[in-house]
Amino acid sequence: MPGSSSGMTPEKYLRMRTYPNRIVVIGAGPVGLCLSLALAQADIKVCLVEALGDDNFLEQVPRAGTNHPATLEMYDRIGLYPKLEPRGIIAPVFHYWDRHEGKLIAAFDHASLKNDTRFPYVLQCERIKIVEEALKMAKAHPNIDLRLQTEFVSFEQDADGVVAHVVNPDGEEEAIEGRYIVSGEGARSLIRKDLGIAFEGFTYDDRTLNIEVAYDFTQHGYTHRNYISDPTEWSNLFHWKGPPDRWRVHFPTDSNADEAMIMQPEALQMRLQRFLPTGKPFDIVGSNLYVVHQRVADKFRVGRAILAGDSAHVNSPIGAMGMNSGVHDAINLADKLIAIARKEADDGVLDRYERQRRHVAVAHTQAQTIRNKRLLAEQDPAVRQRNHDELRRTADDPKLARKFLLRTALFESLREAEAIA
Ligand SMILES: Cc1cc2nc3c(=O)[nH]c(=O)nc-3n(C[C@H](O)[C@H](O)[C@H](O)COP(=O)(O)OP(=O)(O)OC[C@H]3O[C@@H](n4cnc5c(N)ncnc54)[C@H](O)[C@@H]3O)c2cc1C
Repeated sequence: MPGSSSGMTPEKYLRMRTYPNRIVVIGAGPVGLCLSLALAQADIKVCLVEALGDDNFLEQVPRAGTNHPATLEMYDRIGLYPKLEPRGIIAPVFHYWDRHEGKLIAAFDHASLKNDTRFPYVLQCERIKIVEEALKMAKAHPNIDLRLQTEFVSFEQDADGVVAHVVNPDGEEEAIEGRYIVSGEGARSLIRKDLGIAFEGFTYDDRTLNIEVAYDFTQHGYTHRNYISDPTEWSNLFHWKGPPDRWRVHFPTDSNADEAMIMQPEALQMRLQRFLPTGKPFDIVGSNLYVVHQRVADKFRVGRAILAGDSAHVNSPIGAMGMNSGVHDAINLADKLIAIARKEADDGVLDRYERQRRHVAVAHTQAQTIRNKRLLAEQDPAVRQRNHDELRRTADDPKLARKFLLRTALFESLREAEAIA
């Protein structure tokens, strides 16, 4: 049976394959690339399989773009950070706004973390730039066998190794062998499905509309990252480096509304004008509508097959935790696979990977992103008032502000995971 050691026939066991000492990673997203680089730099061979090719790899939508301080430390460890900084915006401060009242509620400055990290700021740098830079590094690394334009279709495993079945650029089926297989395939992971791992959670009724605008919102008091609460139409407003510089505005949409109607250029302009009436049409440079899921895989590991990133957990983008926590999975997993390769640990250490990272996915990423949405969308005026007062109090008290930022910058989740045996 594909992917399941329990389904292997005795004949297959008896064949006693000798597997090459390498890790097969499926998916050159931020998670697959960071994992591959960390392994390769520790002298471990990697075969990295990606369905997209050189001709279309850079055609992906920008997607995630807020990189928290804890993640910047990881990018730095694998030599990626210096390539990203020039392509991004250093954003030490973020804001909470009350759209209903048209007022700034609170400003949080990562300067409070100057004794905690070398990176007391967030780097606004989109996924597409991260994968572009990381892919260049992967291409140049002798330990990475990069297979672009190669579609992973299935796999099997036994007690000693794995075989990934792929279709290569010539349309031929090929078998790639290794010691472990890691799914960095994203939310639609075939490996997760193949293993029959439940992906529990829920999907929000309302979809999120993302409009990209070339317009300078700082002239209205906004900073590079803004979370905007409103009982009828919450939003997020984020700044990205150009040219041209772009701002991304997120809005909720009615679950019953027709997609074509929502995406009409006049409808997009109307929403933006309601958000900020400038009287002049906004220069819209992109837009998309996406369905938001909150789900965590029941298991992150079955035998020699391991899930990381979106294949293991998905969440709303409010709080920018999806890609960040996926990169944290990648680095945590790299350390465990390195320890196994160096015979410093047996593969039971991969169960600790699951305990640590599943805990973070459930208790931090899911819990926090669900809370974030509730905070922005809250309708009860008394609860809104209480929430806003609490944010103000937190931002104004240096000790509370540092504690708050240690959580949003994702250090708290890492420290908690470290304490898990
Ligand atoms: C609009 C939007 C905004 C977001 N904003 C943020 C944000 O601000 N901050 C944040 O932290 N997160 C954000 N996220 C989430 C973030 O993009 C994901 O969490 C992140 O990209 C997951 O990385 P990944 O490497 O696990 O998977 P992916 O980025 O999905 O990469 C998967 C890779 O696997 C490849 N692949 C898939 N199937 C196969 C196959 N069968 N064979 C070969 N290759 C395959 C794909 O081509 C792709 O390259 C956002 C998401 C969206 C949609």
